[in-house]
Amino acid sequence: MSDTKQIKCARCKVTLEGPTDAKGQDVFACPICGNADNLENIHRELANYMQEHAATSLQNSMRKSFANNKFIKYKPGIIHKRTYRFMVDLDF
Ligand SMILES: [Zn+2]
Repeated sequence: MSDTKQIKCARCKVTLEGPTDAKGQDVFACPICGNADNLENIHRELANYMQEHAATSLQNSMRKSFANNKFIKYKPGIIHKRTYRFMVDLDF
């Protein structure tokens, strides 16, 4: 993931500001609330964020496809919801 333009502050939903050719230790910050971290930590958090997002949308589509099935009851597992400081726009 090298496109840093998409990283947003999860609270303010605005794109983070940082250097254009950013490396792991370069800090990105929210221009509104000052929420900031270095790229390495942000990427780690975004990986968790995307994993959770993918798991949630998989459960939703499973639930939909089993909704009218009398023989299979789909029991979704528990996805631990975390509060994220950073986010990206995802289209799953
Ligand atoms: Zn913010």
